[in-house]
Amino acid sequence: MNKPVYFDYCANTPVDPSVLDTYVKTASQCIGNANSVHSMGRASKAIMDDVLAKMADLLHVKPDEIILTSGATEANNLALKGIAAATRHVGKHIVSTSLEHSSVSASLSMLQQEGYEIDLCPLSGDGTIDLEELEDLVRDDTCLVSISLVDSEAGVIQPVNEIRKIVHSHPHTLLHVDATQAMGKTPVDFDCGDTISFAPHKFFGLNGCGVLIKHEHVPLVPQNSGGASTTLYRSGTPDPAMAAACLCALENLYAHQNQWQQHCAKCNAYLRQELTKIAGVKINSPAAAVPQILNLSLSGRKGFETQKALDEKGYCVSVKSACTSDYLPSHAVMAITRDRRRALESFRISVSPLTTLEQCEGLVQAVREISEDK
Ligand code: PLP
Repeated sequence: MNKPVYFDYCANTPVDPSVLDTYVKTASQCIGNANSVHSMGRASKAIMDDVLAKMADLLHVKPDEIILTSGATEANNLALKGIAAATRHVGKHIVSTSLEHSSVSASLSMLQQEGYEIDLCPLSGDGTIDLEELEDLVRDDTCLVSISLVDSEAGVIQPVNEIRKIVHSHPHTLLHVDATQAMGKTPVDFDCGDTISFAPHKFFGLNGCGVLIKHEHVPLVPQNSGGASTTLYRSGTPDPAMAAACLCALENLYAHQNQWQQHCAKCNAYLRQELTKIAGVKINSPAAAVPQILNLSLSGRKGFETQKALDEKGYCVSVKSACTSDYLPSHAVMAITRDRRRALESFRISVSPLTTLEQCEGLVQAVREISEDK
């Protein structure tokens, strides 16, 4: 069998050799624990500080506002649970959406069990948050609003500046922005929220690393007990090599994102045009979604059946989040299309600058064959 063709870049990307190189070089340089006060500890700390200063520069934040975690899951957990715990005096009301990754929705379920009231804001037909509904939902006792800037299933971009204005019209309400799927797919301004999360493995960085930007004014209760690290908010031995690898992935992203975006837009336009010619195919991602994500449904087959059939033909695509059952509809597609069958039949294609038009042609042909094979 030929090598499988990857169309699941939103789940993970291959690590860029420059990132891996940076990791290896920095890891072999940093022997001492950056928390140790002896010379080798201080040498590691100096490298860590330098990396954080450069990362802060790139993201236009302060070094102290960067919290490194094990991934976006941990960053989201820390932001949601940490802010909720630190703002009990404001209230126990949180607003979010049905487009969130499970690291957000499951954290919210946990908070609900602790007595928090969770409201999911209705969406407009294009998948964006209905701003009037949001205005009605946010109250003086709302401690937090949590949104994903780009959702992982359909690629909807949220109007974050308008959302921030509404949230901040309540002086004690904070906004968490999950930017994990937004990095490299749409511009991310790190002033868009009070806390912002992302993970470099979505843009050719390493797995096992995440970032939470927590602006200085945001109160946060750490969720790990046990000693200060580079930051009070996340204990454990600092990892300068992982931080340097994350910086390298960010530098690569910032250097190439326009070119990457144009390439993905070409792939997306081709896929949309050719796939809609196939009987039974419906595109679920709105026209304004990021070009890297294309969610579609093939009528007559559950999404996971289409995924399996494509896998057998050598194409790797994905079906909603891996943690939900095959027999449940995609929340995101359901919210956008309000069509349960279509949500059950949905699957996601995701492209990257490494995707070729030839691969896209092959994928279209494979979907066509599956649609004819009923
Ligand atoms: N948030 C979003 C929107 C995601 O798409 C993902 C992963 O797919 C995550 C959070 C979790 O990221 P990680 O795998 O780094 O924990």
